[in-house]
Amino acid sequence: MDSMPMALRGLALVKTGDLEEVYAGMEETKLLRLAKFEYNDLEFQAKEALKTELARRGLLEGKTLFLINRQEDGPDDLEVKAIAVHFQNQVCPHCGKNRLANAYVLTRRIACLLVIFRQDELVFGCKECLAKKLRRKSLVTGLSLLFSVYFPLIPFYLSADYRLGEEIQAASEDIPSPDLLESIRRNIKTYRDILF
Ligand SMILES: [Zn+2]
Repeated sequence: MDSMPMALRGLALVKTGDLEEVYAGMEETKLLRLAKFEYNDLEFQAKEALKTELARRGLLEGKTLFLINRQEDGPDDLEVKAIAVHFQNQVCPHCGKNRLANAYVLTRRIACLLVIFRQDELVFGCKECLAKKLRRKSLVTGLSLLFSVYFPLIPFYLSADYRLGEEIQAASEDIPSPDLLESIRRNIKTYRDILF
């Protein structure tokens, strides 16, 4: 039930035949939001009823229609790449000077009693800022593990971070990183939401 769109949560028991009536009474902004971002979560009949209502109001066109079709197809490589390139062309949010270039998953590990907590974070930034963030996370990992029973693991984690740092430096600024592509593919709805 969690995947059910907010707007429809209360309507789960509504008979299919009533859906057209529900959509007819819905505000335009709500209707468009449903169409653009939650369309693919709807049942077949709901999709049809929604499209009928949008067409009746003359809204089944342009960007809305594009997004509906996109959702039915699911993200393809071309869309994922296009979104990645859009992000790469932004300015780095950390220094505000360089082109953003890329995003990588950076990991920080915190040791607490007998457990290691791994915190992955997708960080957007230019090469310099990504390197700085990576160094900071390595430092936290190193210091945290230093005072724990896991201190023998420090060289492994730090050398893994070092290799990632080299990979980031060597990467082409025009080719989206695998981490960025993966994030877009997994969270396609959020990215579409930001862009449209
Ligand atoms: Zn930067």
